[in-house]
Amino acid sequence: MIIAIDGPSGAGKGTVARTLAARLGYTHIDTGAMYRAVAWMAGHNGVDLHDEDAVASIADAAEFELGREIRVDGHDITTAIRTPQMDTAAGIVARHPKVRHSLVRRQRAYATRGGLVMEGRDIGTVVFPDADVKIFLDASEEERARRRAHDPSHASSRAGEVDQVKSALAERDRQDSTRKTSPLAMASDAVRIDTTSMSIDEVVETILAMVNKRT
Ligand code: C5P
Repeated sequence: MIIAIDGPSGAGKGTVARTLAARLGYTHIDTGAMYRAVAWMAGHNGVDLHDEDAVASIADAAEFELGREIRVDGHDITTAIRTPQMDTAAGIVARHPKVRHSLVRRQRAYATRGGLVMEGRDIGTVVFPDADVKIFLDASEEERARRRAHDPSHASSRAGEVDQVKSALAERDRQDSTRKTSPLAMASDAVRIDTTSMSIDEVVETILAMVNKRT
């Protein structure tokens, strides 16, 4: 079974997808980490983020490890990719059609391993349009900024300024939703869950009930 989870930044995709995968014994893939890893690698190799062909070559060749720790070509980038600079850099590389094509191909390959919970922006629309369960997680702008500002895995938490984080999130969502290739959008057959006043457990239980119905 493939479970696709999409939604804007700070909607709770990461924690929900990880918890859900652990409950089901499925593989969890955070596709945002793949875009972040490619952006990090471009910086590491001195490649211009706007050079589509050069960045796509990095995406083609990168060896990803997407567990609790994130590695690319053996470099542990778990904390390095969760900074405001990398938020922007990932958004830039994610606009290149050749980079998306390369990463989508790799994302689809994870399905051969069995049960999968994949999170991102285009999983239900592009990567797995036939996913068994499609969720679009959302939350109010205020709540998403609050969560991001308190997320210990993201450097923004040390900035601590909810208002600053809020405007950065709004700008990234605007760019993700208006780009030409695979913009952030809800699949017509996805179920929208507004997590603003829900706990992680409540969201996970809601999705588990949908999964159980399908099996
Ligand atoms: O999910 P996360 O915030 O880590 O993603 C970082 C960036 O990667 C997003 O802002 C978006 O531009 C891009 N992304 C994407 N498609 C995905 C996952 C992430 O374009 N499936």
